[in-house]
Amino acid sequence: MAEVIGIMGGTFDPIHYGHLMAAEEAREAFDLEKVIFVPAGIPPHKVQGQVTSPRHRYLMTLLAVMANPNFAVSRVDLDRGGVTYTVDTLTDLRTEYPDATMYFITGADAILEILTWKAPDQVLALAEFIAVTRPGYGLERLAMALGPLYVPFKDRIHILEVPPMGISSTDLRRRLKTGRSIRYLVPETVATYIYSEGLYGTGERG
Ligand code: NAP
Repeated sequence: MAEVIGIMGGTFDPIHYGHLMAAEEAREAFDLEKVIFVPAGIPPHKVQGQVTSPRHRYLMTLLAVMANPNFAVSRVDLDRGGVTYTVDTLTDLRTEYPDATMYFITGADAILEILTWKAPDQVLALAEFIAVTRPGYGLERLAMALGPLYVPFKDRIHILEVPPMGISSTDLRRRLKTGRSIRYLVPETVATYIYSEGLYGTGERG
């Protein structure tokens, strides 16, 4: 039987329990054999902004998933270098897993922007999508966002309601910069790494 895998792409700056919960919910709901976390190189929508070095984001992702035997981390986007486009991520993983059914797990807001991504029709043809969302998300928003791609690809996009978890990487970076706690928002291993490497301004305090 062909393998069924989930692909959780993200900037992971830093990775947190929202990402891990979404991946685990998708794994269970779609009976995925494993979920591969893929830290992005330079994310196209964050080219102008400051993104933590790939090495730190990779190691934090590794530390976050290592306790779960169903989770793994791939370096495809980091090793390719440059700006990460999902079409390249999926093409590389297709080469690595030629027979697998691939599900790309993402926030519903990202799906709404998919028409602005590079080669959206190829992206949707390479993998099925699991759009994780809060309860009450309207399918009609998706239909509008996808425009002409909605009809041919609607069966390849699955909406998955997950428990709302108000954690975001932006908020975590803000907390760290101002000396606030991130306990219970990220795995302890990730928090320890952040403090020991002095990331997100934590090294600037005495
Ligand atoms: P991210 O901020 O690190 O987040 C990764 C994913 O986790 C996102 O889909 C995000 O959804 C979701 N997430 C975050 N917090 C969550 C929570 N509390 N509960 C549930 N889900 C949560 O990654 P990103 O920068 O948005 O990038 C996502 C992927 O899209 C990456 O693989 C990136 O390469 C790809 N992308 C590709 C293109 C392109 O090909 N042109 C353009 C943009 C992005 P939310 O965003 O809804 O929080």
